[in-house]
Amino acid sequence: MSMTKVLFVSPEAAPFAKTGGLADVTGSLPAALLDKGVDARVILPLYGVIPQKFKDSMTYKKYIYVNVGWRNQYCGIFEAQYKGVKFYFLDNEYYFKRQGLYGYDDEAERFAYFCKAVLEAIPHLDFIPDIIHCNDWESGMVPVFLKCIYRDNDMYKNMRTLFTIHNLKYQGVFPKQILGDILGLEEEYYTPEKLEFHNGVSFIKGGLTFSDYITTVSPTYSCEIQEPYSGEGLDGLIRSRRGSLAGILNGIDYSEYDPSKDPFIFVNYSDRDIDGRHENKKRLQEMLNLDVSSRIPVIGIITRLVCQKGLDLVEQVLDDIISLGAELIVLGTGEGKYESMFTDAAFRHKRRISANIKFDDVLAHRIYAGSDIFLMPSKFEPCGLGQIIALRYGSVPLVRETGGLKDTICPFNEYTMEGNGFSFADYNAHDMLYTIKRAVDFYSKEDIWSGIAKKAMACDYSWDASASRYAKIYDALKG
Ligand code: ADP
Repeated sequence: MSMTKVLFVSPEAAPFAKTGGLADVTGSLPAALLDKGVDARVILPLYGVIPQKFKDSMTYKKYIYVNVGWRNQYCGIFEAQYKGVKFYFLDNEYYFKRQGLYGYDDEAERFAYFCKAVLEAIPHLDFIPDIIHCNDWESGMVPVFLKCIYRDNDMYKNMRTLFTIHNLKYQGVFPKQILGDILGLEEEYYTPEKLEFHNGVSFIKGGLTFSDYITTVSPTYSCEIQEPYSGEGLDGLIRSRRGSLAGILNGIDYSEYDPSKDPFIFVNYSDRDIDGRHENKKRLQEMLNLDVSSRIPVIGIITRLVCQKGLDLVEQVLDDIISLGAELIVLGTGEGKYESMFTDAAFRHKRRISANIKFDDVLAHRIYAGSDIFLMPSKFEPCGLGQIIALRYGSVPLVRETGGLKDTICPFNEYTMEGNGFSFADYNAHDMLYTIKRAVDFYSKEDIWSGIAKKAMACDYSWDASASRYAKIYDALKG
């Protein structure tokens, strides 16, 4: 049988353009799929913010024109090879040459263009996919266009679509006018069974309704989103599609995140010899102007600073955490209120709190390698990669039991000595504080702590098992 061909459609992919975990996934799962006999490639916008060195590695293929409603827009097609995977980039400077990836007033038009351009570009890629694997709302119109506009076209008619929910909270809902003006679709698509959602047009609903199969990024989240509490208004639709829904845990690229080879960290170490962590911690404390001591437990937070991440819990007990004798290192950008909350706290607790309000890959790796505890008290978490990377580096995760955090972190049990982290169930600041206190107490017992850190590092959340599951789903869809 010939190799299954899969085209990942994503608004971001590491190392080219990243704001969060989605980029990690689309930057690493395709390579893991190659090992499973799947020819997986990725297509994304050619953002202005893609670093020049990556732009230099791209080759230009050709240009086409793409209809966006009544508009006719230029689309350059570029390609590059990264770690054995082919990446395609769609170029339109009017839409994508901006300071960031998202957050503009014309998101509907930018990503409608992207979805349309993906389908129009396919005949020019020398790669006719069996499966188009869409990711998050920005790619939600691909299954819609495929079924509505291209279904009678021989080139497209055997293509199947899979839609992966990386975060149901982000939905891409826009005023009704975009239906004809931007999507070029007829009134018949504006119904609750199709694209209408609370008097708007929903991109994610398009993906969920029109795709052949749906996955999300952890088993627990796949159950949670079928309930009103976490369903973001779409739980009914998701329940109706549960026969075509699977929760597959994300993995990480174990060669990219490898403390024994990582060029960004101060000294390399492995699970057989974790002493190198001490030096990483010392150098990190020095670099960030914190009190330098191996006895002080260092808590790391690396995240988008948004409500989902449980930062209001941290706010409520920030001073108490420091009173436990811990240090806190924060790396993140996002909502202004959280940025200033951490900046102010760092001002109040000089040499105890370090607030780094930026996106910085190198510092992120150094915090994974140099912190003792990795704090992720999320309100909800579809999968979460932070805790998985932290496990790999031996920074012990302390998480709330939700979504993928629940699926990956098994709380330490002092009687059986089992567990790879710490966790609490209720979304409550004092439950979190109590759990931090417990972790800090165990931190002072060196033997116990190094046992937990080693167990954390011994976990295997590489892509192997999950890539096999995707490969099986592709095969079944291909028929
Ligand atoms: P989400 O996808 O919701 O943002 P995840 O935990 O799944 O959360 O993935 C976050 C990814 O982004 C991790 O690789 C994390 O290290 C990285 N990250 C988040 N914020 C920053 C930052 N400010 N600087 C560097 N890396 C970051």
